[in-house]
Amino acid sequence: MKIAVVTIGDELLNGEVVDTNTAEIARALRCEGYEIDQAVTLSDQPQLIAATLQQLNKQKVIALVSGGLGPTRDDVTARAAAQAFHLTLALNDLALRQIEAFFKKSGRAFPPGNEKQALIPHKAQVMENCCGTAPGFIITHNNCPAFFMPGVPHEMIAMLQQQVIPALRRLVTPTLFCGERVLKVFGLPENDIERQLPASLFPQSVALTFRLEYPLVLIKLNTSGKQESDLDEAEHIVRNRLKHHVVASGDQTLPEVVHHLLCHAEVTLSLAESCTGGLIAKLLTDLPGSSAYLERGAVTYANSAKHDWLGISNELLLEKGAVSTECARGMVTGIRQRARTDYAIAVTGIAGPGGGTAEKPCGTVFIGLATPQHTEVRECHFSGDRNQVRVKTAYTALDWLRR
Ligand code: ATP
Ligand code: MG
Repeated sequence: MKIAVVTIGDELLNGEVVDTNTAEIARALRCEGYEIDQAVTLSDQPQLIAATLQQLNKQKVIALVSGGLGPTRDDVTARAAAQAFHLTLALNDLALRQIEAFFKKSGRAFPPGNEKQALIPHKAQVMENCCGTAPGFIITHNNCPAFFMPGVPHEMIAMLQQQVIPALRRLVTPTLFCGERVLKVFGLPENDIERQLPASLFPQSVALTFRLEYPLVLIKLNTSGKQESDLDEAEHIVRNRLKHHVVASGDQTLPEVVHHLLCHAEVTLSLAESCTGGLIAKLLTDLPGSSAYLERGAVTYANSAKHDWLGISNELLLEKGAVSTECARGMVTGIRQRARTDYAIAVTGIAGPGGGTAEKPCGTVFIGLATPQHTEVRECHFSGDRNQVRVKTAYTALDWLRR
C-alpha cells in the first residue's frame, strides 16, 4: 500500500504558515522504513478535500491528513471526510469526554461551540489528542485507512508517534530497511570529500549524499537494501578515508562531542576569546552540565583587556600586535594560570570585514591550546564573511581540543 500526506489549510497556501507537518511526517515515517509516495496541500474547501480523499482511497493509498479539525468555521476536514466516505457527522461520546477531560485538566471552562470538535464521521475510530482539544480519527473504507490529525504541529507529532505509526505498523510492512547514518565532517571542503569517496568504493545498496551544514559537511549514508552490514561497511570506508575529519555522527554536534569528552575525562577548561567574542563559551554552555569542566571564559577584546586580565605586556602588543602567535601564546598561558585549569584555549584574529592588512588579511586567526603537557599556537587563514570566520575559528578550536 502506498502512503500520501495531505495537509489542509488556506494559511499553508497563502504564505502565512510554512508547511512543516509534511516534512515531520515524512521524516518520522522514513525512520520506520516507510516511503511517502505523494504529498498534497489543499485549501479549506470541503468539496476539494472530499474529492482528494475519495481519489486516494480508490487507488488504495493510505492518507495521513493534518489540519482543519478545530472548532472554528474554517475547520472543515471532518465534514469533508464524512462526505467523501458517505458517512454522517455524529457527536462522538468518547471524543466529547476526551475534550472535556482536556479542559478540566488544564483548569479551563469548556467553551461554547467546542462540542463541534466531537462531531466526527460515524464509524470513525477516535484517536486521543494528548496535548490539544481536537481529537483525531481513523476512517477505514475499502480496507484502506485514512488518518486525520490536528494541524497544530506538536499535537500532530504526538498523535503521529503515539497512535498513527503503531497502527501503520500493524497494517503495512515497511519497504525500506530503516537505515540512515549521518557522519559529520569538519575541515575539508565538500568537493574534496566527494573526490575522496567515489561511489565505486561503496556497496551498491548504499547511496551517499552530501549536505553543507556550515561549518560541517554532512555525509548521509542511506540504504534501500535489507542489510545493516552494508551500512557498517560504508561507514567504515568513510571513516577510514577521512580519518579525524569525521568529528561527529548522528544527531551529535561537535560541541556535544567535546562536552562529553571533557565530562568523562574529568578535566577543567578556561577560555580567552577575542575575535569570537565568547562564541566558544556559548557553544559549550548551551549544553547542560558544562559547569563540570568550564571554569571561565574571558572575552578580552581590547588590548587593555588582554593586558589587564591576561597579563600580556604592552611591549608585546605594540611590537607583535594582538593578532600574533606571541599574543595567542600569552593569552592561553595567561588564562590557564589565572583560572588554574588543566586545559585552556585562546583565540585572537581578524574576523573582518575591515581591519585586515597585506601581511595579516581578514580571516587570519591564531589559536592557542594549553594542556598540562605543552602549549601550542596555530596560525589559520579562514575564508568567508565575519560570521563564517568566527564560527570556523570556534569549531577549529573545539576540534583541536577534541583531538
Ligand atoms: P485547532 O484546534 O488549533 O484549530 P486544527 O486541526 O483545526 O486545530 P488548523 O486550524 O488547521 O488545525 O491549524 C492550527 C494551526 O496549526 C495553524 O494556525 C497553523 O499555524 C498550524 N498548522 C496547521 N497545519 C500546519 C502544517 N501543515 N504545517 C505547519 N503548521 C501547521
Ligand atoms: Mg483550526
